[in-house]
Amino acid sequence: MTIPKTCKAAVLPDYGKPLEIREVAVPAIEDGAILVKVEMAGICGSDLHIWHGRMGIKAPTPYIMGHETIGRIVALGRGRVHDAAGEPLREGDRILWAHADCYDCYYCEIARKPMLCEHRIGYGMAPPEKLMGGFAEYEYVIPRTKVVKIPDGISEEESIGVACAFRSVVAAFEKLNGVGLADATVIQGAGPVGLYAALLAKESGAGQVIVVGAPAGRLALAKRWGADHIINIDEVKEHAARKELIYALTNGRGPELVIECSGFAPAFAEGVDLVQKGGRYLVVGQTSPAEIPFTPYSLVQKNMQIIGSGGAVIHHFYKALQFIKSRKDKYPLGDIVSRTYALEEINEALTDMQAGREIKPAIDNRAR
Ligand SMILES: [Zn+2]
Ligand SMILES: [Zn+2]
Repeated sequence: MTIPKTCKAAVLPDYGKPLEIREVAVPAIEDGAILVKVEMAGICGSDLHIWHGRMGIKAPTPYIMGHETIGRIVALGRGRVHDAAGEPLREGDRILWAHADCYDCYYCEIARKPMLCEHRIGYGMAPPEKLMGGFAEYEYVIPRTKVVKIPDGISEEESIGVACAFRSVVAAFEKLNGVGLADATVIQGAGPVGLYAALLAKESGAGQVIVVGAPAGRLALAKRWGADHIINIDEVKEHAARKELIYALTNGRGPELVIECSGFAPAFAEGVDLVQKGGRYLVVGQTSPAEIPFTPYSLVQKNMQIIGSGGAVIHHFYKALQFIKSRKDKYPLGDIVSRTYALEEINEALTDMQAGREIKPAIDNRAR
């Protein structure tokens, strides 16, 4: 494949400003690096926080946003011959990749939790000349990045969720060490993280899966992905009323497991209140530094357990893809992508996401 000298990229000039389509240089390919053509780039709930500078991490602007990318290999740097699962890599293969961890620090090597790596390099927040963001025609994958090949027969729509939401849910379920058989499970939030959590809870043996969220379109997809009950927060607006509905479904004791996927800080206090005495609360969705009033006594009173989970490493991507491969005929997994946009329409895609009009908007470069 020919390697272009420059390509188009959507650059965030400053926090809160519209993204600008600019012509940027394509870097020379170092040993071990990979240049991909961006096939699809997902727009994430956290992109809205990033856009407005409300994320925990705030990198200096300008940069190319986009951290959920499916790339087709255009060029492989010397020495990059296989993916993390040992599959040979060739030009034309579709890949997903994790943040680049160092495998040379305390958290990588001793604690064996590379998602806490002290030298982790993420995608979607680097200066334009590095070309390390998905909202572009091409993306540069740096040498130490672990990648996985997308199996043949899975579409971009079916696999784009693995780039962020689904791999995060797979990592969180790994920490949970299993959903108790027949446990009632409440999912707070019906965005992509909540939808994948509902799907995985159901497939992990949950007795009933109750999804609390909005809007109706997302809840309808939750049903098609295995949710037994849905509660629309636009209709049932008060926590007390939602709790009453949930307790009516769970023998008056509440769910054994609650999973926070909404990203809305006050949902945390609600989740603690919902969980059954002795139950577990898995917190995945929180990405903003917002503060809320909270009574720690409730943790002691309930003898409950709270598990926080953020990020993922390459084996979670691999497992998520294998899960999709095995369940693609059982669930309409491609329906997560509710609308696709051209790269030039990036601001419209972000605005539609912000307005809650889409489940997952995605930049689709395939036909272009
Ligand atoms: Zn994301
Ligand atoms: Zn490290």
